[in-house]
Amino acid sequence: MPHELPKAYDPTTIEDHWAEYWVRENLFAQSAEGTGAPYTILLPPPNVTGRLHMGHMLNQTEIDILSRWRRMCGDRALWVPGTDHAGIATQMMVERQLAEEGKTRQELGREAFETRVWEWKRHYGGAILDQMKRLGATVDWSREYFTMDEHLSVAVKEAFVRLYDQGLIYRGAYIVNWCPSCMTALSDLEVVHEEKAGHLWEIRYPVVDADGNETGESLTVATTRPETMLGDTAVAVHPEDERYLKLHGKQVKLPLVGRVIPIVLDDWVSRDFGTGAVKVTPAHDPNDYALGLRHHLENINIMDDKGQINAAGGVYAGLDRYVARKKIVADLEAAGLLVGIKDHTNNVGHCDRCKTTVEPRLSTQWFIAVNKKVNLNGVESSIAGRAIEVVNQEKIRFTPDQYKKTYLSWMENIHDWCISRQLWWGHRIPAWHCADCRKITVAKETPAACSHCASKKISQETDVLDTWFSSGLLPVSVFGWPGFDGKPGSGLTRADFDTFYPTGVLVTGFDILFFWVARMVMLGCWFSADVPMPDGSPRPLSETVPFREVYIHALVRDANREKMSKTKGNVIDPIEIVEKFGTDAVRFTLASMASPGTDIAFNVARTEGYRAFANKIWNSARFVFMNVDRAAEIGINVDPSALGGMPTASPTDPLEARWIVAEFHAVAASVNESLKNYRYDDAANAIYQFFWGSFCDWYLEIVKLRLDFSETADKAATKSALTTLLSVFEASLRLLSPFMPFITEEIWHAIYDGNPPAKSIALTQYPGDDEKVSSSLASSMIEMQEIQRIITTLRALRKDCGVPEGESVSAKIYSNVQRGLRAVGFVPQHQELIGRLARVTELLVVTEPFKGEVTKSEPDFDVSIHYERTIDVPAERERLGKEILKLEKGLDAAARQLGNDGFLAKAPAHVVEGLKKQQAETQLLLDKAKAALASLPQE
Ligand SMILES: [Zn+2]
Ligand SMILES: [Zn+2]
Repeated sequence: MPHELPKAYDPTTIEDHWAEYWVRENLFAQSAEGTGAPYTILLPPPNVTGRLHMGHMLNQTEIDILSRWRRMCGDRALWVPGTDHAGIATQMMVERQLAEEGKTRQELGREAFETRVWEWKRHYGGAILDQMKRLGATVDWSREYFTMDEHLSVAVKEAFVRLYDQGLIYRGAYIVNWCPSCMTALSDLEVVHEEKAGHLWEIRYPVVDADGNETGESLTVATTRPETMLGDTAVAVHPEDERYLKLHGKQVKLPLVGRVIPIVLDDWVSRDFGTGAVKVTPAHDPNDYALGLRHHLENINIMDDKGQINAAGGVYAGLDRYVARKKIVADLEAAGLLVGIKDHTNNVGHCDRCKTTVEPRLSTQWFIAVNKKVNLNGVESSIAGRAIEVVNQEKIRFTPDQYKKTYLSWMENIHDWCISRQLWWGHRIPAWHCADCRKITVAKETPAACSHCASKKISQETDVLDTWFSSGLLPVSVFGWPGFDGKPGSGLTRADFDTFYPTGVLVTGFDILFFWVARMVMLGCWFSADVPMPDGSPRPLSETVPFREVYIHALVRDANREKMSKTKGNVIDPIEIVEKFGTDAVRFTLASMASPGTDIAFNVARTEGYRAFANKIWNSARFVFMNVDRAAEIGINVDPSALGGMPTASPTDPLEARWIVAEFHAVAASVNESLKNYRYDDAANAIYQFFWGSFCDWYLEIVKLRLDFSETADKAATKSALTTLLSVFEASLRLLSPFMPFITEEIWHAIYDGNPPAKSIALTQYPGDDEKVSSSLASSMIEMQEIQRIITTLRALRKDCGVPEGESVSAKIYSNVQRGLRAVGFVPQHQELIGRLARVTELLVVTEPFKGEVTKSEPDFDVSIHYERTIDVPAERERLGKEILKLEKGLDAAARQLGNDGFLAKAPAHVVEGLKKQQAETQLLLDKAKAALASLPQE
């Protein structure tokens, strides 16, 4: 006997209870020994500093729906959670905390600072995962990782050392994007470019002869960053620029500094930019650096880590870069060397984290040579090459598929990956510098001495690795690579890797397509390549991929389709909205709008609507349970074996039973099909229509007729109706469960009153499509649709005539032979059903068209009701008059469209056919309305 549900649906109580239960019971853990096809998903690890935002909520809702669905379909669905140590973000967070105490990390020292970050992580680090737990994500918590965990750090060291030994990691001077505030190099992806109004300063450089004496000639250069002139080591002009032909081979004297530098000729110089002559500062501009390499120019770095002029800047040393700029411009002007200042729009790079203007700066960094070919298992390969090959060969598929092109074009133009960061928080690079021989020793374990000269004077590299280096390794490292021996402390074995790698699908946002997705493909394909298959055979390319599919989801915008941003103040906090409407309603809102390539305009009104949907489900459960209880009182009990699978009906069952079962099979088939194609929206909307429309509005109303608990009841019929009711309801809960996990769990447990066949509805079977059953019941769908149309038309007519809600009237239906309604033949056997739902005492089938009666027409039938008190001829005449006008307008429009040759030439055949059919039907309705008007009694 089902449990009684509280009268009111209260999501908070239900959700807290089940969220805690799912975690406590560890229901979604998967082991290598289980059964079913593995279906693995990695959570894009949120930053350990993170708080849940709408983007996470969408991402997690989508992953959870897929996981729950595939698990219920019998797959071994494994969702692995974790957090990223997030180098810069976390370091900034802790530094801010220190600043409040009046301390700096430098005062603390590296070791103490790291301890402090770990402490911070212990206190605040798990917040976002706790939020995830509350939202009911079906992850395997026993596999939760943190990218700085020991076993993941082992993988990071292994990967670094291997790449170094393969000659794929090198250290080199390079122009990097430097953030003077974060004091670290940034990858290109961490720099945001913005158009900014600035200036172009024109500076005159005097030409000097071989002895360094000014010849009286000069050359004017244009620059947007005048302070960098302190580091100029040449001036460049285009070799064919006629203006400068006479200066070829000469030199200039650098103003304010006095250094004599050459005029070099280079095709790269644009003759149209500024004066056609450019200053060359190889240490502070990527193009100048490349030019410097071509002309063997010296690199003079004039700035320190903080963006202040260093000793190489002479009298300007110690000044901030912008203070120096002002002073240099003033000094040039005083010296008469400033030719002019022009307005100029600059494309300025900013640090993505702190918004400081990035300074291109020459520094020594560590790189991965992603395009360099080396021998990998006997095949000449490069890291990028492999990552391109697997996508070209469709070993990884993208949805929406346009991202395949985006990915490939980025990969094909990829530069070496700068993997070093000048931070204290992260995986410290496992390389040691020797003070004696200056060489580098790279090792997994801290070496005792230099591997080249055996000197003990070695010190570890101070840089840490780019955060994406460790997260790029996650698909292999979370399954135990490289050790597979469960050490140290991971508990993972080789079987974990064999079972769960490659993972099934990666669900993520576009913003980390290059940061993370591409890096996982590069590193995953590279490092898994020499892990043999479980049977010992070499791993084929198709099995090296970190995931077989990538689903890129869209952005969640506000209701006006604006991007959410703190400055605009339109950010929706998912937790706030969950507290107001319940997780189920918020999840359903997101799902109902989620489809490949379409941004979501999050509208709270919609969530309110889905909260009402949850309420509807709750009330329908209460109705079902009330009837199950009443039946039990007279000894009618539903056989539990009728639950848990696909509902069935036999040809002898009443129409509504056959119909609701057929409808359920159809909706289950369409939901499965939609989810296969990531059409969350179609799946959610199909369930919604079924549950609210078919099940609640129609079926529940009809089934009331069959639930007879009186002395004289046909007990077999009542039991059969009750069985269909309960089995379709139970199966609908399972169908809905991945979308609204909490309310379905609550009601499902109540059905079994403390003795459920599984620990959770999430561990039961997902409704599929049983073709045999659905085709045998298909005819009931047409029959029911026609009955529904009759009822809807009768209801509309009642409304038109102002029949009071509670009053029953008698009614008639006419349908002529040619355009006949099949169901007219069935009307006599559905009197009770039609009577109840349309509130008519009787529906009489007549064989003559109506004359002088109040009627409502459909193209294939007409109904009339007998309601004497309301026959108001003038009103009816007016109503029909309006109806005729409307129909005539429709006909005019159709005629215009069908008479338009241009339209006919372009429109697809089925559209034209549809219009013609509609035109014929409108004509018919018009004829009927005119006949009705003519038959009204004359005044
Ligand atoms: Zn910064
Ligand atoms: Zn040495």
